[in-house]
Amino acid sequence: QVEKTYPWTKEVEHKLRQMFKLPNFRKHQKEAINETMAGKDVFVLMPTGGGKSLTYQLPAVCQQGKTRGVTFVVSPLISLINDQSRHLCNLNIPAIAYTGDMTQKDKNLAHEELSRPEPYTRVVYVTPEMLTMGGHIKSILRSLLQKRRLARFVIDEAHCVSQWGHDFRADYLRLGDLRKDYPGVPIMALTATAQNKVEEDIIRSLGIQGCSVLRQSFNRPNLHYEVRPKTKKVIDEIVAFIRTQGQRASGIIYCNSRDGCENLAKQLRDNYEIEAHHYHAGMSKGDRRKIQEGWQEHKFEVIVATIAFGMGIDKPDVRYVIHHSLPRSLEGYYQETGRAGRDGNPSTCILYYTWGDGKKVLNQIDQDQNLTRPQKERQKASMNEVLRYCNNKADCRRSQVLSFFNESFDPRNCNQGCDVCLGRDRSVYTTLDVTDDALNVIKMVQSFEREDRITIVNAAECFRGFKGSSGKGLDQNPLFGIGKEWTRQEGERLIQTLVIEGALEEFCVASAAGWTNAYLRLGKEARKYLNGSKKLNMDFRQAS
Ligand code: ADP
Repeated sequence: QVEKTYPWTKEVEHKLRQMFKLPNFRKHQKEAINETMAGKDVFVLMPTGGGKSLTYQLPAVCQQGKTRGVTFVVSPLISLINDQSRHLCNLNIPAIAYTGDMTQKDKNLAHEELSRPEPYTRVVYVTPEMLTMGGHIKSILRSLLQKRRLARFVIDEAHCVSQWGHDFRADYLRLGDLRKDYPGVPIMALTATAQNKVEEDIIRSLGIQGCSVLRQSFNRPNLHYEVRPKTKKVIDEIVAFIRTQGQRASGIIYCNSRDGCENLAKQLRDNYEIEAHHYHAGMSKGDRRKIQEGWQEHKFEVIVATIAFGMGIDKPDVRYVIHHSLPRSLEGYYQETGRAGRDGNPSTCILYYTWGDGKKVLNQIDQDQNLTRPQKERQKASMNEVLRYCNNKADCRRSQVLSFFNESFDPRNCNQGCDVCLGRDRSVYTTLDVTDDALNVIKMVQSFEREDRITIVNAAECFRGFKGSSGKGLDQNPLFGIGKEWTRQEGERLIQTLVIEGALEEFCVASAAGWTNAYLRLGKEARKYLNGSKKLNMDFRQAS
């Protein structure tokens, strides 16, 4: 098949080698470049590290495209902008970082330069608030448009426009005006977020319906995924794992609270002689920069961080990402783990999980007064996806994560790349139909619903035939002990699975003593189990 050539093909190939010192394109880079240079809107979906930047940086330095002049790149973080513009300056590509951090003098210089008939600058990086705030930048853009020297808009981290994304930013919503205000200027949206509903949101919000969509597989074959139960020994386990890694292997441990980060880093240093430092949004800018740079330059190995740490970090040799706390969405999980192994070498992602941690997050969402009701519902739905992932020991982790991004992945290609496939290859897991037990649990909860309330722990006790200490007369229930062959742990997992599947739901009641109890009642999906239209399978670890 003969490849299509464009008037700019020669120039593009030449500049790839000469300016970027790269021998070939990666998948979809060339297509994205051709589309935008032909003046079309493009949506580029590539995993982190896939090479999105080249798709606008290369056109920015070419003369031949349908539109010419300065490329404006909207990017959410000043640190990201500074990194990128420094990178371009190193390649001898004139770039400006136009942010709130700029001095008035620099701003004046930038205006002067961009007002010239033929600006020398190729790329201007700008934060969304700067771009939509009006003032000088708008007049610059207008005059560039009139001179036909506004080559394109690039919306980096475009998922920030979507409330479904893991990183929504209100300022991004106003980028929808670009199409109206600067007609005829092509728009490129770049993101590593592949959920369909996010994609639709981005295209609609930016007004780029009909754009070419270039979507790359999100599989990261060199990442090993694992979910582990979080026990009291979690720190010992983490330490043991870190010690299996090379002497100076770099890693990230995510915690969801600032205190949690500080404590864990301190424990690792003081008790285990592991060079770990914390990073979170409560630290001063200077401290954060110092820690980030120290870690990036290999002065120490482990960074213990909240999710404030991550976006825009380009360290190729991160060997592991450990989640000491649960991520709040599978999408966030994919992004956070995606920081491991960018150099293509094998790397490990471990997620520590307890049901209680998940419930805590759900409660926090419920009680967060800054969230509207629909926001709460969305966040809880995302959290439930995480819980379903953790509780599911039956399906290949990789195919679970990728199916969330609407990518089908054949688990046979996982190559023991996750705990589930590894276990399956060693025949550690068996799958059983537990529909009958599930039905008994549902009926049992139903009978309690009328009079007394029961928690998951009580329900498991009753199911297994333990009176327990709840004082609720569990042994009076007709189904008491119907699941007596179940272990405590698996009995509770059965009930948790029913909650995740929507057959049961937990609701919170504040007790007089000040804490909240979560009780069970039937959920929306219960009817489907009761009328026989839905079945439940669970995987069990075989005793070895
Ligand atoms: P993304 O923005 O998608 O996360 P980047 O644009 O930062 O990824 O690129 C990640 C890395 O891949 C960079 O180090 C970049 O130099 C490299 N890269 C990009 N395109 C190519 C290519 N065609 N060949 C080799 N390396 C590339």
